[in-house]
Amino acid sequence: MVSNSKFRQQKPAKNVWKLLYNKLFREILVPLFLMITTPNLTILLSYIILKQNKPLTEALIYDFPTTIQNAWLTVHWFDLQCWTAIGLLLGWGLISLHLPAKPYNGPITSNGFTPKYWHTGFRFYLISMAITVPLLYIYRVSHLFDKLYDFTGNLIVFGFIVCLFLYIKGLLWPSKGLHNRTGNPIFDYYWGIELYPHLSARISLKILIICRFGLILWQYIVLLCWKSNYESLANGQFNYALTASTILQSIYLAKFFYWEDGYMNTIDTSVDRFGYMVCWGCIAYVPGFYPITSLYLSVQPLNPNYTFQVFLLNLLCGIAVIGLNYWSDQQKLVFRATNGKCIIWGKPAKLIRAEYEDDFGKVRKSILLTSGFWGLTRHINYTFELMSTFLWCIPSLFNSPVPYLYLLFLTVLLIHRSVRDDNKCAKKYGKYWQQYKGVVKYQMIPYVY
Ligand code: NDP
Repeated sequence: MVSNSKFRQQKPAKNVWKLLYNKLFREILVPLFLMITTPNLTILLSYIILKQNKPLTEALIYDFPTTIQNAWLTVHWFDLQCWTAIGLLLGWGLISLHLPAKPYNGPITSNGFTPKYWHTGFRFYLISMAITVPLLYIYRVSHLFDKLYDFTGNLIVFGFIVCLFLYIKGLLWPSKGLHNRTGNPIFDYYWGIELYPHLSARISLKILIICRFGLILWQYIVLLCWKSNYESLANGQFNYALTASTILQSIYLAKFFYWEDGYMNTIDTSVDRFGYMVCWGCIAYVPGFYPITSLYLSVQPLNPNYTFQVFLLNLLCGIAVIGLNYWSDQQKLVFRATNGKCIIWGKPAKLIRAEYEDDFGKVRKSILLTSGFWGLTRHINYTFELMSTFLWCIPSLFNSPVPYLYLLFLTVLLIHRSVRDDNKCAKKYGKYWQQYKGVVKYQMIPYVY
């Protein structure tokens, strides 16, 4: 009797905490916190690096109120050149989605919908580079570099507008595939309503915004930083540090576009809805924050400690690690595409056959790879991702934490993501996931974590 009454008293209390956590913390406070901090962080860093060029401690600790105020007040919000650039990028992105190419399927959703895409990513990247690189070679671009801070401000606004459009579209004209609203507009705006928002069969808004806008802008900005820095150097000088960082980020981005079909199987595309978190993130946060090492290096004086020999070593290590990141992602992709009938590191793939129930209670089958990279840790691809990022930050050496901020952010993001993915897979596969965790014991670093 006693334990029963205790149980009755405790259960509602436990539910209240759970309800508070979900409804107040997870669905209101966290989204609001992120929607307030990320635009501030983006504009602030852009301002400090591009306009003030002050040490971070001075700008943030001693002078924070003035810095943040000026960061917002000095942006030219309706800069015609910036909005023209945004329009051109979107226009080219839309055209690129219609380039002739073979179709392929994305992963099936829990309600049985299979998204269809076309292999246009790498063509888009190659054409974009074939146009951009000669233009950068011919024309001086320092005046465009000087516009980057205004451009970041305009991207922040544009991102909010697109997310509002996505929210309204999700409410009124949801596309096929998963979509649902919680009824809490803050969370629905932040997280998104639709998984696969489309404007037509070919126009996937996720591909348009993530790949054809955010990721390519990252590439353009990295190249712009390098060229404008090159224009500022005296005859005979060469910025090895910025060059190494530029080459490594460019190889990483070229790899991304080459592997775009693989990206369509990732958590961003097959799990996360398309709202502020992913959409605004790719419109404003990726171009504003991800190239931070390039932004920093392009306004710093040359560092004589970063010699040609260090440059070569840095490049070789960086290329090798980006290769490992690609190889590990590709291994899983080939494994799934061949239904496990493939050779991994010279031997037939080892696997666990798993089952799960979809939204309609139908039992579906899946396979989990337990050999090759995927036998080392459950997210070795994240480890390589972090190592490659470290290798394009390291040319800045150790005078300031600023060029390492993206690495810091990515470390938190990927650790959190690996936990999120672990929870998702545990829920989806149940005992099979526990069996998999018994075989592949570590999350990211063998024998450590
Ligand atoms: P993964 O590619 O690791 O995909 C995880 C999913 O793969 C799981 O949800 C599960 O999906 C399936 N899976 C997990 N383990 C196995 C296994 N052993 N065998 C077969 N399938 C398995 O994660 P991401 O999508 O997050 O990352 C993809 C790439 O993108 C990585 O290289 C990552 O580093 C990079 N990335 C970069 C970011 C950046 O901002 N720079 C951010 C995030 C990712 P299922 O339900 O199908 O079983």
